[in-house]
Amino acid sequence: MNYLSKICRTTHPYVAGEQPQDRSYVKLNTNENPYPPCKGVKEFVKNFDIDRLKLYPDPQNTALAEEIAKKHGLDKENVFIGNGSDEVLAMCFPTFFDKDGDGVAYADVTYSFYKVWAKLNEIPSCVIPLLDDFKLDVSKFKQTKCQGMIICNPNAPTGLIVNRLDLMAIIEANPEKIIIIDEAYADFCNCSMANYVSKYPNLLIVRTFSKSYSLAGARCGYALGNTALINGLKTIKDSFNSYTVNALTEGIAIRALQDTEYFNSCVDKIIATRDKVADELRGLGFEVLQSSSNFLFVKHKERPASEVYYQLKKHGVLVRHFSYGRIDNYLRITVGSPKEMASLVSALDDILKVEFNKSESEEE
Ligand code: PMP
Repeated sequence: MNYLSKICRTTHPYVAGEQPQDRSYVKLNTNENPYPPCKGVKEFVKNFDIDRLKLYPDPQNTALAEEIAKKHGLDKENVFIGNGSDEVLAMCFPTFFDKDGDGVAYADVTYSFYKVWAKLNEIPSCVIPLLDDFKLDVSKFKQTKCQGMIICNPNAPTGLIVNRLDLMAIIEANPEKIIIIDEAYADFCNCSMANYVSKYPNLLIVRTFSKSYSLAGARCGYALGNTALINGLKTIKDSFNSYTVNALTEGIAIRALQDTEYFNSCVDKIIATRDKVADELRGLGFEVLQSSSNFLFVKHKERPASEVYYQLKKHGVLVRHFSYGRIDNYLRITVGSPKEMASLVSALDDILKVEFNKSESEEE
């Protein structure tokens, strides 16, 4: 007897990057921030009144919504908060797309969770191939038949951006469609469209504390949009779980937002390291896409990505290899601290000196 639903039996879940427990690695595979959360976060956790855990958290996370609204010059009614931006994005699917509608459009090479959520919610997908150079096909996004679309900007795993004017053209060409922009990495390029949610009623911005705020473990993300969109998300959330963000995480996120100086210094350091390492990798024979993110998407001119991935793992450096389709020969490397990146470059130096032994190669 199989007790599982049809949808459960046929769903292929998203595969997150490894979080290995067997040994310590230089971990450059899940785009985490190498720097610790700010001091205010540390103090908040140290002084947290444990008795508060007796009570449910505020289901609206009002204090955090106010702080996020302040950061973006919006009202708290324009903010929806979730347990990581994955949860916010997951809730976008039943909120904005119908099973019998025109579907959700997204690029063929993008965050691979989108297609899982579409399938789980039985929403048709309209997959729009990126151009040969991995840039977004803006004219197709302007014209495609769909109920709405998700654009990851900067895109993952390529790190490339769509410029503001092109995004505005896509939004303006589709006033009857919902346009969701996943800005998980937007703080690393100053390319946020958050300022435009008051202008465009069909624009929803999704952001996270996991990357630029060093809070992947706290699980907090949010959406910005006009109140009709935000109220729609709240309806779905409250039909699923009223308390998605716990009291500890709410306080942590507030403290993180309050220290803009530390935030800017971490982001600046990551950008400087990214650009330096991109040049070093080019010197080692890699093609490196122009990254606007906290990771580099690279391909060696001679060595297969599967081999480089495997050899790096043997050297104690973990990167991400997506072994499918046209990105099969690329690696995505998170920008870590200068010390971590020096270990990466020195491991690559060693690996590339040695003749490749095919029998040793292994896929991720
Ligand atoms: N969007 C993109 C493009 C991502 O890479 C990630 C991280 N895997 C997320 C959203 C989700 O991040 P989180 O749930 O940690 O906010």
